[in-house]
Amino acid sequence: MSRPVVAIVGRPNVGKSTIFNRIVGERIAIVEDIPGLTRDRIYGEGEWLNRAFSLIDTGGIAFDNEPLREQMRLQAEIAIDEADIIILLVNGRDGVTAADEDVTNILYRSKKPVVIGVNKVDNPEMHEQIYDFYRLGFGEPFPISGSHGRGIGDMLDEVFTYFPAVREDEHDPDSIHFAVIGRPNVGKSSLVNAILGEERVIVSEHPGTTRDAIDTGFVKDEQKYRIVDTAGMRKRGKVYENTEKYSVLRAQRALERANVVLVVIDGEEGIIEQDKKIAGYAHEAGRGVIIVVNKWDAVAKDDKTMNEFTEKIRKGFAFLAYAPILFVSAKTNQRIQNLLPVVHRVAENHQTRVPTHVINDVIMDAVSMNPTPTSGTKRLRINYATQVAVGPPTFVIFVNDPELMHFSYRRFLENSLREAFTFEGSPLKVLARKKS
Ligand code: GDP
Ligand code: GDP
Repeated sequence: MSRPVVAIVGRPNVGKSTIFNRIVGERIAIVEDIPGLTRDRIYGEGEWLNRAFSLIDTGGIAFDNEPLREQMRLQAEIAIDEADIIILLVNGRDGVTAADEDVTNILYRSKKPVVIGVNKVDNPEMHEQIYDFYRLGFGEPFPISGSHGRGIGDMLDEVFTYFPAVREDEHDPDSIHFAVIGRPNVGKSSLVNAILGEERVIVSEHPGTTRDAIDTGFVKDEQKYRIVDTAGMRKRGKVYENTEKYSVLRAQRALERANVVLVVIDGEEGIIEQDKKIAGYAHEAGRGVIIVVNKWDAVAKDDKTMNEFTEKIRKGFAFLAYAPILFVSAKTNQRIQNLLPVVHRVAENHQTRVPTHVINDVIMDAVSMNPTPTSGTKRLRINYATQVAVGPPTFVIFVNDPELMHFSYRRFLENSLREAFTFEGSPLKVLARKKS
């Protein structure tokens, strides 16, 4: 189900990232650390009154070459484009500044609900610092302290009142939701057009779950599909749409609502750091993943080129060893017709459920081939294994001592499961639990 989106805007140093971290906190759950990937702490998940929401720290999207005023204008625009509710964060110690007024003027025009957080009100005696901010015209300002964690609950109570009502019809379980992600200019929108331009594709547009997201639904070979956030791909030309952080943000948002993602790479330009970052988020989100090398028409090729490119991908995206790779051209439609069958297959693999006795046969066979590790005098003992979830398939292995389940052995068991069943395109989670 899609979550309301809340964005924090405000001048540098008012405490946006402090508040972001307070709200998102430890929730940024990293399934598995991918070495060498730096993370952008600009997008996270919060929860208030049992309702999950997404939080964006627009301050994390820097426009280094722009003057401060312009940066703040762009950040406010992103908040308006992306969020249902905006938190305007100000510094209680400074009173209303000219820059606060600038941002306010931009926010007025949007008609999105705005809640003012007056930060750095570290103790109750400082409460009168909020009064100056009434004149911004967004109602009652909320005194908060990011460093002391004070007042944030009251502010979120107010934010909560603007959350859109939960819609029940959002998720159609018979439809495969997929997202097309990648850095700017790899050909995402061209690919979407190529897929939708195929014969026998019947298209319908779904009003977005959150306002600016438009999904495109269609039926092909009697299977329903939905491409999430096609609006995000179609908009063109704004300065911030070509910035790296913004494209990461878009990818993260699209990932939320997809079962399967196509990670698009530019075959002409090859793999760059930003591709790895986006692919890393796809992996961590636990979605089915397909790597699509686009612009294959523009690549000078001989009979080795495809294998060489495949090797580069396998090396660059070691954590995506399970993802199928397709070489296509959105321009000439080369192999575009292969995409949906693979999306379909990966979506099914992502939902695979294996009976417990079959899993145990596989695990026990694996253990007899490669005995469990020891530490000192202790040996890992496996009692039994069971699948606890799909999407992605998640297995719990009950053992005498989870500490003894080293990464490499867990990887070995995961590979054994992969060899026995068809999980192509799907990540797997293998968890060790103490048998109680
Ligand atoms: P951002 O640039 O808006 O993201 O601001 P930061 O979150 O990086 O905070 C800027 C500075 O203000 C840091 O030194 C924080 O420790 C400090 N700060 C943040 N919140 C508070 C607060 O509630 N009270 C006080 N006294 N300092 C704070
Ligand atoms: P997006 O920013 O990822 O959505 O990328 P676009 O779909 O806007 O494409 C960026 C540029 O790459 C445009 O100039 C496209 O015409 C071009 N392009 C897209 N797909 C292909 C392709 O398969 N082959 C070639 N040669 N160019 C392509």
